[in-house]
Amino acid sequence: MKKEFSFYHQVRIYFGRGEVDNLSRLLNEFGFKRAIVICDPFFKDKALQMAKKEKKIKAVFSDIKPDPQLADITTAMQVEQTINADVVIALGGGSAIDSAKFVAALKYSSFDIQEYYYQKRSFSYTKIPVIAIPTTAGTGSEVTQVAVINHNDEKRTISDKAFLPFACIVDSSLTLTVPPKMTMICGLDALSHALEGYWSVHNQPICDLYSKESVKLIMENLETAFDNGKDIEARDNMSYASLLAGLSFAQTKTAAVHACSYPLSIDYGMPHGEACAFTLDKFIEINADERLEELSRYAGFSNPLEMTDEIKRLKKKAELKTTLKDAGVEDIEGLAKKCLNQPLIKNNPKKITLDILIKLFEGLR
Ligand SMILES: [Zn+2]
Repeated sequence: MKKEFSFYHQVRIYFGRGEVDNLSRLLNEFGFKRAIVICDPFFKDKALQMAKKEKKIKAVFSDIKPDPQLADITTAMQVEQTINADVVIALGGGSAIDSAKFVAALKYSSFDIQEYYYQKRSFSYTKIPVIAIPTTAGTGSEVTQVAVINHNDEKRTISDKAFLPFACIVDSSLTLTVPPKMTMICGLDALSHALEGYWSVHNQPICDLYSKESVKLIMENLETAFDNGKDIEARDNMSYASLLAGLSFAQTKTAAVHACSYPLSIDYGMPHGEACAFTLDKFIEINADERLEELSRYAGFSNPLEMTDEIKRLKKKAELKTTLKDAGVEDIEGLAKKCLNQPLIKNNPKKITLDILIKLFEGLR
C-alpha cells in the first residue's frame, strides 16, 4: 500500500431514486434565489417542468450538444448574465455538467474565455456554485474538478478546483430513458474511469476501494441495464458505480485510455465512452500486474484477461466499433502520434511509447 497520499473532496452527494424532487429543499437550505438550468436538448422539457414548479429557476439554457463547444458556453454565459444567477444547475450528461462548470467558474471574470481554456490564466475562486444532476451513468463529472471542452477541432481536459460542484443529485430514475447503446457507451466510460483511477500512477488506497467496487458493480449490472433499461435496480447500481468511479479518478486522474480517446473522438467522431472502450481491453492487457489481478478477482474474474474477454463481448453485443476499419482509421502511425501527445498518457503505469501504441492499434485491425 502507498504510505503517502492526499485526498480532497468537497461535493455534497444526494443519492436516491426520485431525489431530484428534493431540489427545492436544497435551494432553500442554502439560500439560493436565482438559478439557471444548463441542460442537454433531450432534457429541455424536464428542465422547463422543473422551472414551472420551482420559481427560483429563472432561465433554462438547453443548447448544449455532445462534445460541447466553447462558443456554446459563451452563449450560456450571456443567458446567465440576463438573470444574474447565484447558482447553476447542470442537468444532463458530461457535456451539460462540464459546460455548467465553466459558466459558474467564469461568472465574475471579465477576461476572454479562451485565456482560461488554454490555461494562460488561473480561475479565480470567486464563482457561483454548481448543482450537478447527471442523467447518464458514466461521466462521474458530478464529483470531479474536470471539464472536457472543445474549441473548433481541439479537445482539452481542464482540471481546476474551481470546477468542483457544490453538490450533486444522483437520481437513477433519470437514467431510465437512456437508450441501450448509450447505456453501454456510458457504462464503459465509467468502467474506464474506475480502471484508470485504479492504475493511474497517482493511485492511492482510498481510490482503490472506490474503483474495485465500481468495476464489480459495472460488471454485474451493465448488461442488465442494457438489456432492460427499466430495471431500476440495475440503474441504481450503475449510477452508484459511476459515482464511485468519479470519486476515484477525481483524485488520481485518468491515463492512456482517455489519452487515446481524444484523437478517436476528434478525428473519427467516436462518442467519448465508445472511444474509451475502443482501447480499454488492450490497455488492461498492457497494464496487467498483481494489483490488476487482485481487482479482477474482486470483480468476479479469475484474471485480468478474463475481464478483457467480457469487455469485448459487451462491445460486440452493443455493436460498438471494435476495429480500425469500423472506426475508419487508416493512418495508424498518425493516430498513435496524436495519442502519445496527450498529457494523460503519462499517467499510465507502464510507460507508453510510439511502438507500443502502433502495436496496440495494429492489433485492432
Ligand atoms: Zn471518460
